[in-house]
Amino acid sequence: MDLSPAGRFAPSPSADLHIGNLRTAVLAWLFARSTGRRFLLRVEDLDDRTFTDVGARQVEDLAAIGVTWDEPVEWQTTHRARYDAVIDRLTADGLLYECYCSRKDIAHAPRAPHAPQGAYPGTCRDLSEAERAQRRDETGRPPALRLRTDTFVYTVTDLIHGSYMGIVDDFVVRRGDGVPAYNLAVVVDDAASGIDQVVRGDDLLSSSPRQAYLARLLGYPEPTYAHVPLVLNEDGARLAKRDGAVTLAEIGVERAFAQITESLGWPATTMDELLAQFDPERLPRQPWIYRPD
Ligand code: GLU
Ligand code: ZN
Repeated sequence: MDLSPAGRFAPSPSADLHIGNLRTAVLAWLFARSTGRRFLLRVEDLDDRTFTDVGARQVEDLAAIGVTWDEPVEWQTTHRARYDAVIDRLTADGLLYECYCSRKDIAHAPRAPHAPQGAYPGTCRDLSEAERAQRRDETGRPPALRLRTDTFVYTVTDLIHGSYMGIVDDFVVRRGDGVPAYNLAVVVDDAASGIDQVVRGDDLLSSSPRQAYLARLLGYPEPTYAHVPLVLNEDGARLAKRDGAVTLAEIGVERAFAQITESLGWPATTMDELLAQFDPERLPRQPWIYRPD
C-alpha cells in the first residue's frame, strides 16, 4: 500500500453535501495537490450506516465539482476489524475504562476545579470492580469505553490557526452501542492511509488536540492541520438545507464552482486553474456568508 504523504476529505453521509462542504473539499484538495500529496476520500459512515445512497451521492458530487482522488473510496464501516484491534491494544495497555454516564450525568457531575469546561468530569475513572458491577446493574446498558489520558490540554500545529492548545479529556473511544467513536476512527484511518495533512471545517479545530494526543499515544505521526472557515447563512448560523438551494443538484455544477472560486478570490473555471493560483497565505480567514439565489 502507498503510504506517501496524503491529504483527504472525509464526509459523514448524513445529508447531501452543501456548498460549504464542497468548498471545504476543494480546499482540502488544493492544500494536498499544491504540496505534491496524494488525495483520498473516506466516507465516515459509522453513524449513518443506512445512508449508503447519500454517501454514494457525495462521492458523485465531489467528482462532478472536479475533485480527484488516488485510491478507491474508503467506507469506515468496512474497517471495524482495524478499530477493534486498536481498542484491544489500548485495553491490553490498561488505558481504557468503562463509563456508565449518560449525557445528563456528565452535565450534572461535580467538576474538579482544574478540569476545563466541556471536559469529561472523570466520574467513572477510578471505580473499584465492585462499584463497576453496581453501575452496570443500575444503568442496564452497555458502557462506553474512555481513554485514560494524562493531560488536560494538548497543542497542535494548524496552518491557519497557528499553535492551538485545546482540551484533552478522557474522551470516548468506543460508544455504549459498540460503535468506535469518531475520534478513534479518524485517527486510526488517517494513519493507516499515510494521511499527514488534515484539512477540514474549523468546527473540528477543538477536536484536533484529542486526536493528535491519541495519534502520539499510538505511535503514529501527528498530521499537520488546516481548519478552514465554515460557510454561514445570513444569520451567521451554519449553512443548512433549510437555507434554500445549497446542494449541487440545486445550484448546478458550473454555478457552484463559480461561487466557490469567487468566495476564495481566485476566479477559475477548472480545478487546475484554481490550483495555479492557490496560496494558503491569502486564504480568506473569515467565514463565507452564503446567500442562495
Ligand atoms: N466526518 C466528519 C464530518 O463530516 C469530518 C471528519 C474529519 O474531517 O476529520 O464532519
Ligand atoms: Zn462515566
